[in-house]
This record gives sequence, C-alpha cells and structure tokens, in this order.
Amino acid sequence: MARVVVVGGGFGGLASAARLAKLGHEVTLLERLDSLGGAVSTVAADGFEWDAGPTSMLLPAVVRDLFRKSGRPVERELELEPLDLVREHWFEDGTVLGLPGHSRAAQLRAFDELGPGLGRQWVDHVESFNDDWEVLRRAYFETPWDPAALPREVAARFDGREMLHKRLRRTFKDERLRQVAAHPFVADGHDPRNVPAWAGLVAYLEQRFGAWTVAGGMAALTAALTARMATRGVTVALGTAATDVVVRDGRAVAVATTSGAVDADVVVCAIDPRMLPALAAYAERTMPAMPPVVCHVGLSEPVRELAHEVVVHGDPMLIVRSGGRAPEGGAAYTVHARGTLAEDILKALARHRLDLRTDLVTRVDLSPRDLVAQWQSSPYGVLWEGRGTVRQRLGPRTPIEGVYAAGAHATPGSGLPFVGLSAALVAQVVGPA
Ligand SMILES: Cc1cc2nc3c(=O)[nH]c(=O)nc-3n(C[C@H](O)[C@H](O)[C@H](O)COP(=O)(O)OP(=O)(O)OC[C@H]3O[C@@H](n4cnc5c(N)ncnc54)[C@H](O)[C@@H]3O)c2cc1C
Repeated sequence: MARVVVVGGGFGGLASAARLAKLGHEVTLLERLDSLGGAVSTVAADGFEWDAGPTSMLLPAVVRDLFRKSGRPVERELELEPLDLVREHWFEDGTVLGLPGHSRAAQLRAFDELGPGLGRQWVDHVESFNDDWEVLRRAYFETPWDPAALPREVAARFDGREMLHKRLRRTFKDERLRQVAAHPFVADGHDPRNVPAWAGLVAYLEQRFGAWTVAGGMAALTAALTARMATRGVTVALGTAATDVVVRDGRAVAVATTSGAVDADVVVCAIDPRMLPALAAYAERTMPAMPPVVCHVGLSEPVRELAHEVVVHGDPMLIVRSGGRAPEGGAAYTVHARGTLAEDILKALARHRLDLRTDLVTRVDLSPRDLVAQWQSSPYGVLWEGRGTVRQRLGPRTPIEGVYAAGAHATPGSGLPFVGLSAALVAQVVGPA
C-alpha cells in the first residue's frame, strides 16, 4: 500500500483520489479552499444559483466508469440527462443552427436546413475523425503513453503539421460550418491556428455520444464524489495548500503544504504543475488557456425558450447558458464572452438580439483573472500552441519518480471527460496496492 497525496480537490483530484483509494492505497487529498470541486461548484446570489464552471459534458461513459470503478454505479447517485441539442449557434447573418448530439442523421438534417448540401459536408467532416478517435482512444486517451515510445500511428498524428484552422478552410467554403467546427476550441480560449487538426475529433464525440448534464446542477457530481471520499476512507485536508513536492534522491518523499509536510510515496499533481516549484521547470514551456469573462444573471422572467447553450457568433463571441436555478417564475443564465469586449457584456449581448437587462434582478461578474485567482490555476488547462504542445504537457507520468499529473493541465483540451480520463490513466500507472 502506497501513501498517496493528491494535490487539488477539483474533478481531476477527486477522480484520482477515488480511484487510487479503491485500488487499496492510503490517500490524502489536499485542497487549498474550504470546499471541494474546483470549477465543478456553484455560485449563488439573491436566491439564484449557477454552475460556476461546466454546465454539460461529453462522453458520459467516463463518469460512469469512474463511479463503477470506485464504488457504486453512477445511476445510484446521480441523474445524468442527455441534452437534445449540444448547443444552438446564432450566426451573424441571422441564421440559426440547432446542433443535435448523438445522431448523424439529425445532424445531417440540421445542416441541410441551414443550406442545401451542407449536411453532407458536415457529416463527412465528422466522419473523417473516426480513425483518429479509435487510434488515439486506444493508444493515448485510455492507455498511459510514453512520449518517447509512441506507436507509429499515434506519432503520425502528433507530428502532423496540419492545424485545425487550415483543415477547416480546406474542408468548408461556408464560414458558418468553420465556426461550428472550431467552436469548442475558441470557447476554451484557443486559437484554431495553433490547435492540431486531430483535436477536432471533439465534433465526432459530440455527434456520436451527445452532450449530457447532471440533474440539479453539475455540482451534484462534486457532492457525490465528496461522499465517495468518505466511503473510500480518503483523508481530505481542506484549507491546505501544497507549496512544493519534496524530492530526495530523485524521487518524491513528501508534499510541503501551508500546514507542514505530508509524507508520500506517490504524489498526484491535479493543479497547474507550474505552481509547484519541483515540477515548474518541466512545465515551463506551456501556457494556461485562460477562462472567459463570465456574468451570472438572475432574471425575474425567462426571456424566452432558450436552448441549454446558445452561441452568439461575432466579436466578441457570446455564449449563453440557460440551466441555472432560479426562484419560482425566474430564470438564471450565465453569459461568457470571448474576444473583444469593449462594453458591458449584457449590452454587447443586447446588440446581438438577446436583451437580458430589462428583467434583471441580480448579476455576478467575474473576470478571467478572478476565476484563475479563485482556483489558483486555470480549469481550462494548457493552451494549444501548436503540434508540440501535446508532448510538452505533463501526464500521466512526470520526470520525477513517484509524481504523476492529472486534471485539466494533463489532458489535451479542457473538459470533464478528458480530465476524468487523465485520472484513470494515473490510476493505471500507479496500479493496485
Ligand atoms: C467558466 C467555465 C466553464 C466551463 N464549462 C465546461 C463545460 O461546459 N463542460 C466541460 O466539460 N468543462 C467545462 N469547463 C472545464 C472544466 O471545468 C475543467 O476541465 C475541470 O473542472 C478541471 O478540473 P481540475 O480538477 O483539473 O481543475 P480545477 O477545477 O481548477 O480544480 C483545481 C483545484 O485545485 C485547488 N488548488 C489549486 N492550487 C492548489 C494548491 N497549491 N494546493 C491545494 N489545492 C490547490 C483549487 O482550489 C481547485 O479546487 C469549464 C470551466 C470553466 C472555468
């Protein structure tokens, strides 16, 4: 049995701790705040409640696997709900696309409604990622990988020079299709000119598996995992910030914290590794992808029937998420902005056909800086800076013996499924007690 210390109590840290405890290790989870969950938490004001970070996720199989492998199945603890639409896109020319998930046929129809022949172009594009997904799922997403010994077919993808931006220009004449395909990356703060083309497989995951949410808000996921910490006997140290990994003779022996050192045989870094000096040198060539400007809005009345997520294209690009909890008769939305925001975010949105200012009861404004300060690292993980980024990111192993990396900074792109997969990889590498 190893003494495992997991640094960071976000989804990545919780998932790692739950899996490693189930494998028989003695696990301590360190979280600098007084509550767990990181971005998977809530913001509340004046009777309204919003998801602080994620409002939906792809690949629910990752969460199902986590719950099954660490105790009771997810169905006994949470209600995962499929969304009809992954999101709705409002384009600058006034046209609208409702993007269905989980169905090639439904996507074909939806794009054909946007313009004749566009359906075929879209499904062909999505289909082109089938092989990428199968190859990378087996040899990268679900298998602890060694950057120095990559299977040929994985290396061929990682070494490919084509960037997503170029692929989309080559594939689509219609700017709207390019915007839909690039959206998951632009929304996460990346420039598609620096994202490798293979990463576009997110469109394949959306089509094949759909988008899902959690009944009652995503923080129910954190509540269930918090309960699992107790069931699995994980020692949770809240209000305890890790300050470094203590390394002796090339291997980790403890984690230094604001409340003293905690001995460890295994350390899982589930925060930005640049925050721990022993790891910082190995991660210095990476940059974080920054969160958007966020405005949580409480309204006395719903504006109108809105999809779970609406993307309003333009500069700035605005994203409205409608799934917050409100007092009877009201509505709770969250607005994100990416790009040039030279005025109040709700004013910018009003210019783009959605005025939330008239029935406004309350609002909570958060800048990217506020969000990073709150969690001390960006939940959006590592910024894509070209094809090399995939090899510069740490995880699941790190150059220090006994130290592993999970969470948003150890995955290709942010998002709960990738974070969940990173924790599964760490559990595989560490293995049973
Ligand atoms: C506004 C927003 C919207 C998002 N929307 C979606 C979405 O719709 N779908 C989706 O799939 N993903 C979404 N994401 C991304 C998703 O939230 C992240 O991928 C995921 O939550 C990252 O989990 P994590 O554990 O790696 O990091 P975090 O959630 O950042 O957790 C890190 C934890 O570590 C703690 N910590 C930091 N430093 C230390 C230290 N030195 N010692 C101890 N503890 C420390 C922090 O307090 C925090 O609790 C969104 C993120 C944001 C911010």
